Amino acid sequence: MSSESIFPSPANLSRETVAVTAGRPAREPDAPVNPPIVLSSTFHGTGTPVPGERVYGRFSNPTWDPFEEALSELEGAELPALVFASGLAAVAAALSLVPVGGVLVMPRHSYQGSLLLAAEEAANGRFTVRTVDVADTEDVVAALRGSAAWTADGFGPASMLWIESPTNPMLEVAEIEVLTRAAHEAGALVVADNTFSTPLVTRPLELGADVVLHSVTKYLAGHSDVVLGALATSSGELRTRLHSYRSLHGSIGGPFEVWLALRGLRTLALRVQRSQATAGLLAQRLVDHPGVEAVRYPGLPGDAGHERAAKQMDGFGSILCIEVAGGAAAAEAVAEKVRLWLPATSLGGVESLIERRRRQPAEPQSVPENLLRLSVGIEDAEDLWDDLAQALAR
Ligand code: PLP
Repeated sequence: MSSESIFPSPANLSRETVAVTAGRPAREPDAPVNPPIVLSSTFHGTGTPVPGERVYGRFSNPTWDPFEEALSELEGAELPALVFASGLAAVAAALSLVPVGGVLVMPRHSYQGSLLLAAEEAANGRFTVRTVDVADTEDVVAALRGSAAWTADGFGPASMLWIESPTNPMLEVAEIEVLTRAAHEAGALVVADNTFSTPLVTRPLELGADVVLHSVTKYLAGHSDVVLGALATSSGELRTRLHSYRSLHGSIGGPFEVWLALRGLRTLALRVQRSQATAGLLAQRLVDHPGVEAVRYPGLPGDAGHERAAKQMDGFGSILCIEVAGGAAAAEAVAEKVRLWLPATSLGGVESLIERRRRQPAEPQSVPENLLRLSVGIEDAEDLWDDLAQALAR
C-alpha cells in the first residue's frame, strides 16, 4: 500500500464484503469513513525525493490509493493495482511489456481497441501479432510455442499471451489455467483482460496470469459515468515497469473519476449478482424465441464454453449475445424498437444496453452481422424481457 492512512480489509472476508470494506481510511476519531478527494498537482517533499514519496500528481495521488488497494484485494494481487486514464491506456501500458521484436498471441475476438492498438504496434515494427481462437487450446499453445503452422512470420516462441474470457463480443471461454501454464513454459507473460467477468466472477491471477486488466469504465465503476482503466499484478518488477510507464506517458486518472470508481465498487457484488441472474433468465428464454437464430451465453448448458466456464467462473457473467433471424437489418430494427434497453455501446452499467456490434467498422468481420450484444443491467428482469420480446415480435 502506498498510504498508511488506508485501512486494508480484515483477513478472510468474502469478496462481496471486501468490495465494501477495502480501502477505507484508518479508524480514528473524527476520520471520515470514505476517503476524501485530493485535488493537488504537487506535494510537499523532504528535500531529495525518496522512493515512495508522492512528489507530483503524475506519479501519485492519495485518491488513487484506496481504489488501487480495493482492486488488488479483489483480484488477489499482492501489490496495489495501478489505475489508468482508460481501459485502453491500461492496454497500452500492458502491451509495453512485449519486447521489441517479440510475439504477442491475442484472441481474434478481443476488444476491438486492443486489437487495433496491437495491430498498430505491429505495423510500426515493434512486435508481431498472432491472432488465435482463444477457445481452441491446441491452436493457442501452437502459437505460443511458435510451432510449424506459425513459423511463416519468421518469429519464434511468444513473449506475451493476451487473454479475454469470455471474449468481447463472441463470449468464447478460454481454458485460462492450461493456457497460462503453456505460456510460461514458452517464456511468455500472460495478461488477462477481466473486464467482462470482474474479480467476483473470474480471478485470472489465481489461474496463473501475471497481469490482470480492467476497463474500470464498465462493471467496477458501474454507472456509465467515468472512463478509467486498471492493471493489477503480484510481481514487483512488472508493477515497477507499469508504474513507470504510467508516469512517463501521463496516462493517469483524475481524482474525481477515481473516487467515483471506488464509490461504484462498493455495490459491485449486488449489481453483478442481479445482472448475472437476469442474464441467465433472458438467455434461457431467448433460446426458444423464433426471432432468434442463436444465443451466446456461457451459462447455457448447450454453449460451447459452458463446461469450462462452470469450472473457472463463479457464475456466467452479465453479457449475452443473440443472432437475430433476418440478418443485419432485422438486428438493427430490434435495437431501434426497444424502449427500455438503451441502444448504445459500452457495457457493465446499471442500465441495460444493446448494440449491433458490426455497426462499428472496426469490429472483426468474423463477428456475425446480425449479432446483438446485450449488457444486462439491474432493472426488473420481467420489464427487460417484455421490452425485448415486443421488439423481437415486430
Ligand atoms: N477491454 C474490454 C474488454 C472492453 O470492452 C473495453 C471497452 O469497451 C476496453 C478494454 C477499453 O476500455 P475503455 O473504453 O475504458 O478505454
